[in-house]
Amino acid sequence: MRTKKLITAEQAESARKRRGKVLPPPSEAYNLLVMIPQDLLDILVCPVCKKPLVLKENGESLKCGHCHRVYPVRDNIPILLIDEAVTEP
Ligand SMILES: [Zn+2]
Repeated sequence: MRTKKLITAEQAESARKRRGKVLPPPSEAYNLLVMIPQDLLDILVCPVCKKPLVLKENGESLKCGHCHRVYPVRDNIPILLIDEAVTEP
């Protein structure tokens, strides 16, 4: 008969943290998704063709669906410079 007391190393680690006073770090993926407010995203446009930009899934760049230029986001600030943009297919 199998015991259900087996836990993964990850579970053991999180249990250890809960016992101490260390709070688990917030999810990085969550932070990336919310780092640019939606109302700001709504007014951002591609400097080349003035079309709306779409935040990529990784939260680290903004893509223009029209000319396919991708603008980097650094320290939560979208860099909307044509020189900084890379063109993706
Ligand atoms: Zn564009």
